[in-house]
Amino acid sequence: MKKVFFTPGPAELFPTVEQHYKDAFDQQLGSISHRSQRFRDIYKHTSEQLKTLMNIPESSGIFFTSSANEIWERILQNTVEHESFHLVNGSFSKKFYDFSSELHKYAHKFEKPFGEGFDYSEIIVPEYAELICTTANETASGVQMRPSEIHKTKRGNKDKLVCVDTVSSAPYPDLDMALIDSAFFSVQKSFGMPAGLGVWIAAPSLLEKAERMKTHEGNVGTYHSLPTLWKNFEKFETPETPNVMAIYVLGKVAEDMNKIGIDVIRKETEKKAKVLYDFAEKCDFLDIFVKNPDHRSQTVIVIDVKEKNAADIIKKVQADVNMVIGSGYGDFKATQLRIANFAAVNMEQVETLIEAIKRV
Ligand SMILES: *Cc1c(COP(=O)(O)O)cnc(C)c1O
Repeated sequence: MKKVFFTPGPAELFPTVEQHYKDAFDQQLGSISHRSQRFRDIYKHTSEQLKTLMNIPESSGIFFTSSANEIWERILQNTVEHESFHLVNGSFSKKFYDFSSELHKYAHKFEKPFGEGFDYSEIIVPEYAELICTTANETASGVQMRPSEIHKTKRGNKDKLVCVDTVSSAPYPDLDMALIDSAFFSVQKSFGMPAGLGVWIAAPSLLEKAERMKTHEGNVGTYHSLPTLWKNFEKFETPETPNVMAIYVLGKVAEDMNKIGIDVIRKETEKKAKVLYDFAEKCDFLDIFVKNPDHRSQTVIVIDVKEKNAADIIKKVQADVNMVIGSGYGDFKATQLRIANFAAVNMEQVETLIEAIKRV
């Protein structure tokens, strides 16, 4: 019997992924040239499907990298001459901040304790910050930053670039992609694909900044500098030999999601999240970790375990129904559960999971 993965990444595969990979092998996509028309057609299709799914303006570029870690580095290299500003409330947002210092930028942060989130009203952006780094869903703690707050952050700081890490949430957050400057994700979380591809969405405002930095400083990177990525994107090509199979499958998954409809996916996500949170609240030995309901993630549900042992629950649920729950992050491993609520799992599976946890 196959397992069902409720882990927050790598995660359960979207139901159509396996067939799309089989089709990719049938079409011998592992052997085609990335300078061929066949590849350009694949890139164009994936770009179009993502633009439809996430309501991305025609003028934006979509680029492929190794994963989101690379995009953290690239966006800092290409848009921050001196200062970046980071909203930090967990391990992933912290790492983005650390990368900036490592790249010898002056990195500012506004930090909140693990489990707390950000509202625009309390954010003070340093005057000289060039890039504001936000995280739509802090995967470690299950805290979301609502699109409304991200939008206000941009509107209040029109002269600065705003980027959104959507790794464990896209395409769920209804972001105004014509307003914010950049968003990015890796495919192995909320898109339900095997790891091996990062997706970087950038508005022309990023390219302008990168071109200016390139002229002034002379260095914004090599094969994956934004100007180089963009020049290639205009021909639907990549600077290097890319992960063609994953780019193909991502386009197909985005097409499947478009057929379902993004509104349906968003509503389903919220329904499943509500069922999971309601259960955690009512269950004697569980509790919701994130106290402010506005900051509770809709895609990664983090639950405190009281009296019982978290590892024991994970083990028993797997033995009972073959479902894999994520453990708490870092120091919270022994006392928390993380349940991924991505589009790849349905309500019936969520209900089966809940029944199994009750039996523990
Ligand atoms: C997992 C994760 C990343 C890093 O993704 P990689 O694919 O490992 O590069 C970045 N940000 C968030 C919010 C994540 O959950």
